[in-house]
Amino acid sequence: MRISIEEIQELIRDVVDFPKPGIVFKDITPLLSSSKGLRSTAELMAEQLLASGAQELVGIESRGFLFGAAIAALTDLPLHLVRKPGKLPYRTVGRDYDLEYGSDRVEMHCDAIQRGTRYALIDDLIATGGTAAASIELIQEQGGQVACACFVIELDFLKGRERLGDCQVQSLLHY
Ligand code: AMP
Repeated sequence: MRISIEEIQELIRDVVDFPKPGIVFKDITPLLSSSKGLRSTAELMAEQLLASGAQELVGIESRGFLFGAAIAALTDLPLHLVRKPGKLPYRTVGRDYDLEYGSDRVEMHCDAIQRGTRYALIDDLIATGGTAAASIELIQEQGGQVACACFVIELDFLKGRERLGDCQVQSLLHY
């Protein structure tokens, strides 16, 4: 049986001042440890991304892998990985992006993205949108189209979706 969005929200735990003072970390581990919670979340995200016309999935390290894998198993869609630098074993393509202090980089295997295919990008949470924006640019640079970017949680006050251009953004929960 599927649980409601409100019941899913009750399975997200706020951890104050983690990983540093001033941050309220949205802890999804209670959601993962509820079998109905994970299944319901994956089903709702799957319905949204299928409606957007996505043909394949791209999960962002690391919590995006958990939801990406659950959605891939439900939908039978292929799953590809966006990872931090140096983690993927085969030849990679990458994109650097700016953080508040310094910069970071996302990488994918060079043969993950097929020209013209429509991808759904998946992560647990969108905050500033920097990671998702860099991932979208990387997919597009490889010739892929991004049908939608799907998140369990969106921190609306950080306006991350504004960095994703005209990409369709779908989030189950808003804070
Ligand atoms: P951003 O690039 O700023 O949108 O950050 C998104 C990434 O950072 C996601 O992969 C999240 O898992 C993680 N993240 C950022 N802020 C939080 C938060 N308050 N709680 C949990 N995860 C977060």
